[in-house]
Amino acid sequence: MKASRFAYHAPSTPAEALALLAEHGDSAKVLAGGQSLIPMLAMRLAVFDHLVDLGRIPELVGIERRGDTVRIGAATTHAAVESSADLAGSVPLLVRAAPLIGHFQIRNRGTVGGAIAHADPAAEFPAVALALDAQLETVSPRGARTIPAEKFFLGTWSTALADDEILTAVNFPAWRGRTGHAVEELARRHGDFAIAGAVVAVELDGADRVRRCGIGLLGLGSTPERATAAEAAVTGTAAGEIDPVEVGRAAVSTLQSVPADLHGSADYRRRVGAAMVTRAWQRAIREAHDG
Ligand SMILES: Cc1cc2nc3c(=O)[nH]c(=O)nc-3n(C[C@H](O)[C@H](O)[C@H](O)COP(=O)(O)OP(=O)(O)OC[C@H]3O[C@@H](n4cnc5c(N)ncnc54)[C@H](O)[C@@H]3O)c2cc1C
Repeated sequence: MKASRFAYHAPSTPAEALALLAEHGDSAKVLAGGQSLIPMLAMRLAVFDHLVDLGRIPELVGIERRGDTVRIGAATTHAAVESSADLAGSVPLLVRAAPLIGHFQIRNRGTVGGAIAHADPAAEFPAVALALDAQLETVSPRGARTIPAEKFFLGTWSTALADDEILTAVNFPAWRGRTGHAVEELARRHGDFAIAGAVVAVELDGADRVRRCGIGLLGLGSTPERATAAEAAVTGTAAGEIDPVEVGRAAVSTLQSVPADLHGSADYRRRVGAAMVTRAWQRAIREAHDG
């Protein structure tokens, strides 16, 4: 199948993009890397008369360190994240998650903002954003606002963004100190969306106790999930006294709506998810410990 006809718009500023969205209303849709939207149009799962391309707006592209925060422009590609030396040191979870996103052709076009705005529950970057308490910058005709990641993901492919609002940047905290980071997931083939996965960031204090941690889950709900109960259970505890298998079990114990499909039952996904958390926890702790 082919997409139905649409007019293509290439604004050069966010203000121009907003004006186009306001002018064309429900018949317009933001286009970023097109790696999710174009297949949906081609299969006629979605039809829009106007596509507003954000890819030619320079101020939406780039990775910038601002003190303890790294600001990533929404139209920055997955490939740029993957190869960023700054991010490798400041937000390692992003750099380690990026190679697991599809294939390199997809990563050359797909964008950080697109992945987060698309809100696929099995996607990597939304889970990282949730686990690290990312702050999402948006702009609409009503002005700019900042949405915490925990309030952004409302359901499968559903977010707190209004139809006339665009995501402009994502701010990730740069963790310092004795930190470790790991991403683990199971996919049937390299490049497929994960059946289930986990992202873990952990910081140890001088006495090897867990000072803080973030555990994000993907493929295990209608949104990316955060394992807050498991995080609370380990925070303040000496790393050597924590059973990684128990962290995995606790992380999936509170999940409410684990999906079931031809790739696996809910019970299977839950077991895979627990195993992924256990593995990621072990690797993150080892890295934090060894430096
Ligand atoms: C074969 C294949 C395998 C894939 N595997 C994975 C995978 O394993 N993991 C993974 O995470 N992803 C995967 N993807 C999806 C890929 O990461 C996409 O790049 C991503 O989901 C969407 O980013 P995009 O920039 O291409 O956005 P687009 O496809 O252009 O847009 C996606 C949606 O987000 C909206 N949008 C985009 N940018 C903005 C913005 N700045 N503000 C507001 N709304 C916006 C669009 O309107 C649209 O609704 C895969 C894709 C393919 C084709």
